[in-house]
Amino acid sequence: MKYRSTRGTADNAVGIVEAICAGLAPDGGLFVPVEWPAVQAGAGDYPSVATSVLAPFLDPAGVSASDVVAEAFDFPIELRPLENNVEMLELFHGPSAAFKDFGARFLASVMSRVVEDGERPITILVATSGDTGGAVASAFWRKPNTEVIVLFPKAGVSDRQRHQLTCWDTNVLSVEVEGVFDDCQRMVKAAFADEWWQSNVRLSSANSINIGRLLPQVTYYAWASLDYQKRHGQPAGFIIPSGNVGNALACVWAKHLGFPIREVVLAANANTPLTNWIESGAYEPKTTVATLANAMDVGAPSNMERLLDLYPTAPDFISATSVDDDEIKRCIATAFERWDVAICPHTACAVSAYLERGGDHWVLVSTAHPSKFESVVEPVIGQTVPLPPALAESLKRPTSCHSASSLEEIAELKANS
Ligand SMILES: *Cc1c(COP(=O)(O)O)cnc(C)c1O
Repeated sequence: MKYRSTRGTADNAVGIVEAICAGLAPDGGLFVPVEWPAVQAGAGDYPSVATSVLAPFLDPAGVSASDVVAEAFDFPIELRPLENNVEMLELFHGPSAAFKDFGARFLASVMSRVVEDGERPITILVATSGDTGGAVASAFWRKPNTEVIVLFPKAGVSDRQRHQLTCWDTNVLSVEVEGVFDDCQRMVKAAFADEWWQSNVRLSSANSINIGRLLPQVTYYAWASLDYQKRHGQPAGFIIPSGNVGNALACVWAKHLGFPIREVVLAANANTPLTNWIESGAYEPKTTVATLANAMDVGAPSNMERLLDLYPTAPDFISATSVDDDEIKRCIATAFERWDVAICPHTACAVSAYLERGGDHWVLVSTAHPSKFESVVEPVIGQTVPLPPALAESLKRPTSCHSASSLEEIAELKANS
């Protein structure tokens, strides 16, 4: 398999290892497959479906898809029945209790396998406003031939998030930055253009535009769509909480590969670039609005470039919704009363889109465990939400953290680590 840039042609296509290690294409575009493989997979257990999906995409990396699947996806995935012909796809049973564990752990497993022992390790430099950094740090922790530097803003992460960003050691360096998320982001960009970093560090990135975060997400749509169809005799439509549209794009790619997916609903919070695209036919970035579903506070979804590459105009099978914070709270309450499940604010956006549409054969995607957003969820449902075991365990580990206010200080920390 070869991957080209959304802004280039097949002439400059690269293999999967190069695409994953580079993150972004040299022309600033995003990597997409040059051609789509014929994936042969029938309904079965998750690891076997995931292996069938990933094998052609990984070829010829020289890493075994089944080894990567066994290492990266070593936690449960559930389709929970909610009511007649409506189910919830729970993607939050990994170590950081959000679906980003699938992408981060796949990336860590592949990267640690493609660097030879004795070679310079790959260094992942990641800026985070909360969730991504925790998933990435946890995924790369103690993985051979890799290291991670996590930059997070001193003001702007919750106590629990801060703990998840700093409870690591050995190959993970946690750095608290004087400033806001944009300052962290700026430092990451500056490092990629900086001579010291370029000549002393084998830099790579793990943000959601990396094709290595997207491909693993295709696997759970392949598995869930086959499993649903086998049990119900009908294909399901998938409703997906969406911000940067990486998760939903993976579902669109699964449909494109031929998996039985009737339609795809992009369920957004009060940010409207997606609903606007569907309604007006033209995509336009918007100013970001802060909401209770903060992992989806995105005004300019980076994966739109990949979606538009495949579908320059929105196809009939994609629709979108946008809801405000009041509706998010209402849907958290409704899900609890009607189905006896506590859901996170992101998942609530998917519940709202379902309630609006009604009808049969839906899979609502649940992206995070509700305990990660306890300050929103608990007052609405009037009870506490217990932490899942993996999260509880990480919150017991000791923390260590450096602080820095410039890229030079971070280079010094790195040189001395
Ligand atoms: C990242 C995230 C999302 C949004 O996913 P995208 O791929 O950016 O659309 C939704 N919910 C949670 C909990 C997330 O962490």
